[in-house]
Amino acid sequence: MNPHSKSLGRKAIFLDKDGTLMEDIPYNSDPEKFRFAEGVALGLAHLAQAGYSLFVVSNQSGVGRGYFAFECLAPMEAELKRMFRESGLNLQAVAWCPHYPGGGDAVYGIECSCRKPHPGMLLRLAEEHKLNLGTSWMVGDRWSDVEAGVAAGCRTGWLSAEALPANAMAPQVQASSFWELAKKISSYDVL
Ligand SMILES: [Mg+2]
Ligand SMILES: [Zn+2]
Repeated sequence: MNPHSKSLGRKAIFLDKDGTLMEDIPYNSDPEKFRFAEGVALGLAHLAQAGYSLFVVSNQSGVGRGYFAFECLAPMEAELKRMFRESGLNLQAVAWCPHYPGGGDAVYGIECSCRKPHPGMLLRLAEEHKLNLGTSWMVGDRWSDVEAGVAAGCRTGWLSAEALPANAMAPQVQASSFWELAKKISSYDVL
């Protein structure tokens, strides 16, 4: 093992929420509707076993658009942490982007540097938790998730059955199920 690898920080998985950890219900701010999609708990356990710290990074433009209050984010975070605990997993932290450029909310209806595809949430978590972005992964179902990961200097896993956009930089792994994606990520280093 590289003797310096510890000083480079921990490796992390940055997880998108809607359409990745759970079904994509638009503007789902109701913790009672939070459920892991099929194979997600198993995939997360596989990634944790492979030594990755787990984080959620989620655009919540519903706040900036004025659809629900910023205060709704705390109970959403609590429920995510409870779901992870219930599956024997540790969710290290959640980062939300509550912004939306030109949105109806006076405070959050603004341009920002954290709304994916911007990398702000990943960069902030890396700073706060001493993470090594180069050995970390951004995992999500939208192309903007891949772009955010690339912009942060991470590897990327795209949860999609779609063809790559023309001229796009390819994600390191792609799969149409979370479980398949988790297996590909955990074997990526040893291939
Ligand atoms: Mg998504
Ligand atoms: Zn933001």
